Amino acid sequence: MRKTLPFTKKQIVEIIKNFETPFHIYDEKAIVENAIKLNKAFSWNKGFREYFAVKALPNPYILEIMKRQGFGADCSSYAELILAQKVGLKGEDIMFTSNDAAAKEYIKAKDLGAIINLDDISHIEFLKEHAGIPDIICFRYNPGKLRKGNAIIGKPEEAKYGLTRDQLFKAYKIMKQKGVKRFGLHTMIASNELNPQYFVDTANMLFDLILEINKTLGITFEFINIGGGIGIPYREDQKPVDLSLLSRKIERIYKEKIVKNNLHPLKLFMENGRMITGPYGYLVTTVLHKKDTYKNYVGLDASMANLMRPGMYGAYHHITVMGKSKKDKTKIYDVTGSLCENNDKFAIDRRLPKVDIGDILVIHDTGAHGHAMGFNYNGKLRSAELLLKPNGKAVLIRRAETVDDYFKTIDFRTLGRQI
Ligand SMILES: *Cc1c(COP(=O)(O)O)cnc(C)c1O
Repeated sequence: MRKTLPFTKKQIVEIIKNFETPFHIYDEKAIVENAIKLNKAFSWNKGFREYFAVKALPNPYILEIMKRQGFGADCSSYAELILAQKVGLKGEDIMFTSNDAAAKEYIKAKDLGAIINLDDISHIEFLKEHAGIPDIICFRYNPGKLRKGNAIIGKPEEAKYGLTRDQLFKAYKIMKQKGVKRFGLHTMIASNELNPQYFVDTANMLFDLILEINKTLGITFEFINIGGGIGIPYREDQKPVDLSLLSRKIERIYKEKIVKNNLHPLKLFMENGRMITGPYGYLVTTVLHKKDTYKNYVGLDASMANLMRPGMYGAYHHITVMGKSKKDKTKIYDVTGSLCENNDKFAIDRRLPKVDIGDILVIHDTGAHGHAMGFNYNGKLRSAELLLKPNGKAVLIRRAETVDDYFKTIDFRTLGRQI
């Protein structure tokens, strides 16, 4: 899909006058339109709900947009639970997908009335001891060798997540004996997957499984959660997942398996992060230096601390040089940041128009797992986040860190004394 921008060069230059680069900017209009599209695609399922994976873009102003579209929040830590609470999400608006969770996280989730999604059979006793058994419970299934995974999560049988098939039957039986009356089933086995059939197969697998568990244990399920993981076209030659096609295929199997077996209504949940906000975020940066040695380098004021994906996964992010025509892609550059790590590169051997010092470069698709994965290594301060409103105005939704923020966790007063 061809990469476009929601702002012109003139507009971004104006914005930069008020907010120093680097920053991430998110396009509210596009996020809302995309959310509406997802809800519409799955409207055949009366209980359909997207629980936005908070970790992808943990900003309350973004969560508020999600909330207005009827989305819930998928949280996996104490801080994420509080974030959901702060925007007024409550009870079953929140799903707590734990893995290796601490007692205080379960307690918070239980207090909020969130749907707790357990990652292991041994966590039943842990939950009981620390927070008590809730009325509704969900388990995360790991199909092991029955399914192929993909690059980011890896093969299911080697992934740390979820219960085996046998454990799953035991776990629901235990919960039934403990008096739980409401049940859900969850899985999440791929990330950034662009093949819609993958999610159709996942839904199909969960439909089969709840049928079997229903027959064996007499449990009726309220929902299945097919996880997140819908991919986005980071590259121009990739296509987004066709949501209405995906939905229609799942609907067909739903009719065959769920309606025919009298297990209707069954709510369908998803917990996408990337496809909800990923394509609608942009890292805006300025060129500080150019350097020609064995290769040609462009040095930005942003670094891997603002966007870790290229350095961490070798991920591709499209780059636009503002004000320069795509037709003039005559140069090949490594586009780098300033960390003392050689993998601090946004792009390697990237064909771009001739870049000059002071040019504004926009790195695309940073709306998910972008700012969220930021860090302070090398004394880098985390950047601001802006929201581009539908009227073209940019508002600050998180300020940039200052040096004072960076030192906030250290008490300098005892420095120079024996401690
Ligand atoms: C990361 C994660 C998601 C979101 O994944 P995306 O690839 O951003 O859609 C959803 N659920 C769980 C449990 C996750 O760990």
